[in-house]
Amino acid sequence: MSTHSILPTKELQLLREEVLEANLEIVRHGLVLYTFGNASGILREEGLVVIKPSGVPYDKIKPEHLVLTDLKGNVLEGRLRPSSDLPTHIVLYNSFPNIGGVVHTHSEYATAWAQARREIPCFGTTHADYFHGPVPMTDPMPSEEIAGEYERNTGTAIIRAFRDRDPDRIPGVLVANHGPFVWGPDATIAAHNAVVLESIARMAYFTTTLNHEASSISSALHDRHYLRKHGRNAYYGQAGEKK
Ligand SMILES: [Zn+2]
Repeated sequence: MSTHSILPTKELQLLREEVLEANLEIVRHGLVLYTFGNASGILREEGLVVIKPSGVPYDKIKPEHLVLTDLKGNVLEGRLRPSSDLPTHIVLYNSFPNIGGVVHTHSEYATAWAQARREIPCFGTTHADYFHGPVPMTDPMPSEEIAGEYERNTGTAIIRAFRDRDPDRIPGVLVANHGPFVWGPDATIAAHNAVVLESIARMAYFTTTLNHEASSISSALHDRHYLRKHGRNAYYGQAGEKK
């Protein structure tokens, strides 16, 4: 049976273009060495995911090279193999119902925190504008999870880190000894959040270097900054614009 006839062609074309742009955005901002990064997006109603193909140089990728899958990770369209991190993206889409885009990079400062296995404390308002709390860290994965379905289990490790956290208020995580996974309501915002996370990680590194005893900002200042951009009473930017 061909599924092609029921695919929403126009929406998928737009999603392909958006996901390609998200992949290029993380390159433009220096988050990606060679091909170490990937972005995806989803059509929620249809449960269709578009992701970067594995190992193709960014300057050669065209929208039609992106791979279309369902929410089980089955490839529906595309001659190239999907990014090997697809199973992690799939776990995130299945577990976090409001996210529309996922980005993974090995950006240097965020990855340095991940390798140091330290969550990033909220030292300032740039962080507070985007993350309502520290950027969390996953627990190291047990050997049997690494030996098994590694990429899917990476997603499971992220879900475990969010047992008591809200992924709509904390749009990213550091996977221990690996690097950041970041998300957002769509692929464009996920890429933006990945760029901001790298900047937060860089500033936090300098902050702890300048003052080993630097402490997190007060919850009053944290809440003020987070809530002026997010939620019911947000007033930052212009009405109706994407924040
Ligand atoms: Zn990786």
